[in-house]
Amino acid sequence: MTRHFNFCAGPAALPTAVLERARDELLDYQGRGLSVMEMSHRSDAFVAIAEAAERDLRELLAIPDNYRVLFLQGGASMQFAMLPYNLLGQGGTPNYLYTGIWGKKAIAEARHLAGAHVAAESAPGLTAVPRQADIALSEDAAYLHYTANETIGGLAFDYIPEASVPVVCDMSSSILAEPLDVSKFGVIYAGAQKNIGPAGLTLVIVRADLLDRALPQTPSMFNYRLMAENGSMYNTPPSYAWYLAGLVFQWLKQDVGGLEAMAEINARKAAKLYGAIDASDFYSNPITAGNRSRMNVPFVLADDALNGAFLAEAEAAGLLNLKGHRSVGGMRASLYNAVPEAAVDALVSFMADFEQRRG
Ligand code: PMP
Repeated sequence: MTRHFNFCAGPAALPTAVLERARDELLDYQGRGLSVMEMSHRSDAFVAIAEAAERDLRELLAIPDNYRVLFLQGGASMQFAMLPYNLLGQGGTPNYLYTGIWGKKAIAEARHLAGAHVAAESAPGLTAVPRQADIALSEDAAYLHYTANETIGGLAFDYIPEASVPVVCDMSSSILAEPLDVSKFGVIYAGAQKNIGPAGLTLVIVRADLLDRALPQTPSMFNYRLMAENGSMYNTPPSYAWYLAGLVFQWLKQDVGGLEAMAEINARKAAKLYGAIDASDFYSNPITAGNRSRMNVPFVLADDALNGAFLAEAEAAGLLNLKGHRSVGGMRASLYNAVPEAAVDALVSFMADFEQRRG
């Protein structure tokens, strides 16, 4: 059995230790004679799994008591729509910062329902985020939404925007990469398939006082309050993904040593890869230094005609999924929590070798 280095943007690499534990528990979960996949979500065994996952997540992110944690389905894309349903019950206009493709999709969903005001945006080229002073909320702003890390562009906020209204953040591709001050946010949400666990689970962290703001026509399955009141079990939850997320949280706590330790490793991984790109005339990344994503590193080769050879040779060397998003081309290396430093070392040495032979 060989596990290659996987740089996929999502569904992304999972820690090998987590997969091994899941394998060991697959057929017979802790002597109960059945798999977690086959359990009632209302059984004592599953409720214990669900509660432990929430407890560990709360500890990792130091989530204050006045926040509710929801384990939902539908992906971050469903949150683009759920958010306005849940936050516009008292009127007002959704406000957004536009920094890339995912933010644009979030804005489009708000516009379906209520219209949206773009309070600030990146300059053309999307190589830097707007600064706090650039943010101009509409007078009737209901909330301010931004994308902490634009997964496709590799563009990340280096600060938490402040506003007189609740700040809402799509943290799909950066949550759990470093410590976070949750108290600065009204709502945080993330699709799981990058730093949390497998696809199919979506995490929402919402300040309890915002649970009273849903539009009356909000469908039940969209309603944060209903989900919170039912412990995210209003209907059948994505139970196996929830269990695996719990194993990832345990791995972060016990094997990695928490989010400060994780952040140090992530900083080192990103510094190595950007260092290699910047030291070369053959590879380049256009993002302003302070806004470069530590999680997703897009780069292009000096000659596009070499893209196919780069990808084929990388794959042969056990370096998987380096192709850039179809909308932008080039390459992208995603360096999520579960991508080990050894993967970055292997990538950097492959890149140097490729440049020497083909550059
Ligand atoms: N937001 C961001 C920042 C993302 O990276 C993605 C997925 N790549 C999404 C939203 C959409 O997530 P999902 O596929 O879970 O709907």
